[in-house]
Amino acid sequence: MKREELLQRLTPATQLWDIIIIGGGATGLGVAVDAATRGYKTLLLEQHDFAKGTSSRSTKLIHGGVRYLAQGNVSLVLEALHERGLLLRNAPHLVRNQSFIVPSYDWWEGPFYGIGMKVYDVLAGKLGLGPSRILSREETLAHIPTLEPEGLRGGVIYHDGQFDDARLAINLAQTCVEHNGCVLNYMQVKALLKTRGLIAGVVAREVETGKEYELHGRCVINATGVYTDAIRRLDEPESEPMIAPSQGVHLVLDKSFLPGESAIMVPHTDDGRVLFVVPWHGRALVGTTDTPIDSLSLEPRALPEEIDFLLRHAGRYLTQDPQVRDVKSVFAGIRPLVKAGADKAPATLARDHTMMISKSGLLTITGGKWTTYRKMAEDAVNHAAMLAGLEERPCRTEHLQIHGGQTHVEIAKPLDVYGADYEAVQRLVQENAAFAQRLHADLPYYSGEVIWAVRNEMARTVEDVLARRTRALLLDARASIVSAPRVAALMAKELGQNEDWQKRQVRAYEELARGYLLTEN
Ligand SMILES: Cc1cc2nc3c(=O)[nH]c(=O)nc-3n(C[C@H](O)[C@H](O)[C@H](O)COP(=O)(O)OP(=O)(O)OC[C@H]3O[C@@H](n4cnc5c(N)ncnc54)[C@H](O)[C@@H]3O)c2cc1C
Repeated sequence: MKREELLQRLTPATQLWDIIIIGGGATGLGVAVDAATRGYKTLLLEQHDFAKGTSSRSTKLIHGGVRYLAQGNVSLVLEALHERGLLLRNAPHLVRNQSFIVPSYDWWEGPFYGIGMKVYDVLAGKLGLGPSRILSREETLAHIPTLEPEGLRGGVIYHDGQFDDARLAINLAQTCVEHNGCVLNYMQVKALLKTRGLIAGVVAREVETGKEYELHGRCVINATGVYTDAIRRLDEPESEPMIAPSQGVHLVLDKSFLPGESAIMVPHTDDGRVLFVVPWHGRALVGTTDTPIDSLSLEPRALPEEIDFLLRHAGRYLTQDPQVRDVKSVFAGIRPLVKAGADKAPATLARDHTMMISKSGLLTITGGKWTTYRKMAEDAVNHAAMLAGLEERPCRTEHLQIHGGQTHVEIAKPLDVYGADYEAVQRLVQENAAFAQRLHADLPYYSGEVIWAVRNEMARTVEDVLARRTRALLLDARASIVSAPRVAALMAKELGQNEDWQKRQVRAYEELARGYLLTEN
């Protein structure tokens, strides 16, 4: 996937794309893969980097959503469990079976959650990841040795999926390109083109050069997550907002807080939310919150009360109470929840997806979750094809291998995330001593991976490499800051950039990464 080559595909400007997608998160990339694999001439434009928005800031679960089951939303859970099973087959290098323990401290919790999880198993059907089971106190502690033992009666074990969100986004972009689609990061849509009142394309600005492009399409799809309303206003300036943004925060702790293989799931916290402590890339991820917010940002910041809530609740369930100084990184994401009418608490807003077609033919798709991105895309492309009068073609993504997923061998960490690219990455890492060097003693990444990201995964900035191609920013924000000058130097050589560029990149990265730290030193 080479950006220069893909940029060239925007000329001649007179060409007509079948489908133009605005937004390169889970939703937009899913739509782009679906459209390209049906053979439609597909173009996706992302204003920043792929998955820069909500799609790199999730809890990293591919799940049916035990909570939605409690709310009685069985159809949503059924769909998500089906998608979970498909994704585990289509991207086995990134999605894995994760065991979760629901600890019980009250006499009724074991049987109550035990029955709930059995229903969850039944709904998953043949695509189930393993049966749930009630555990004794001893079995529960064997799975989670750091679980608070006082008052513990036992637990329930169940299975769900876990993944790397930003890596999946990159692999979806590659899959799209492999099926003749065109995907571009750093390409911001500034306006919509209309012919006789109907949407006919977009005006986009290439962020690195400032060059503007007029791009014509039979159908334009708005997949901009929490920015959905901004694009809708380009179409209809008076349109009422449909998104109720809600922020969710995660803390990343050292593995010693959760040394085993299993995750903890607390079904009901003080504000009625689910709390997860999940092992992820050799760390423990604690999340999340649900805080309605008024202003949007691509870099949302955790509020002090959200951090306090997570530390306090994690402390209740862990033997060792995590402190501010234990937090390796804190990251926030914003849910593009769709308003369900009057002011409701965020936890009750619709979590399934919504599609909308404006009078001028702009198709908006939003809401949903990472887990259901494929189904959302299928729905969107079915409608887009009708709307644009494209030849009807069936969806092909149900059993489509996602880039990297074509591997059948078990690959050792840390290069397992590359899947079928593993050997090529390994060769590059071993090409010379410099590439074989680790970026930092506390991070699992090799210098050669920076080169790989630039050459094959369209990484343009130090942030792209440290935040989304690798997950250094989330695993250890401080160590990632220390690595930034080395990453900048490696990238500058590949991209033909000078020392001034390196300095600017390092400065910008440092400023961003400081927002992921809770303490100054
Ligand atoms: C805290 C939290 C935890 C979550 N956990 C999970 C989970 O564990 N499992 C799960 O299944 N789901 C989870 N979700 C939900 C899931 O992350 C989201 O549903 C999904 O990522 C939304 O993707 P999206 O593509 O719609 O939005 P985004 O990822 O935000 O993508 C929209 C993109 O549009 C781009 N854009 C905006 N304006 C323009 C423009 N003018 N031109 C070009 N591009 C533009 C943005 O830069 C952005 O990259 C979680 C969400 C949150 C907030």
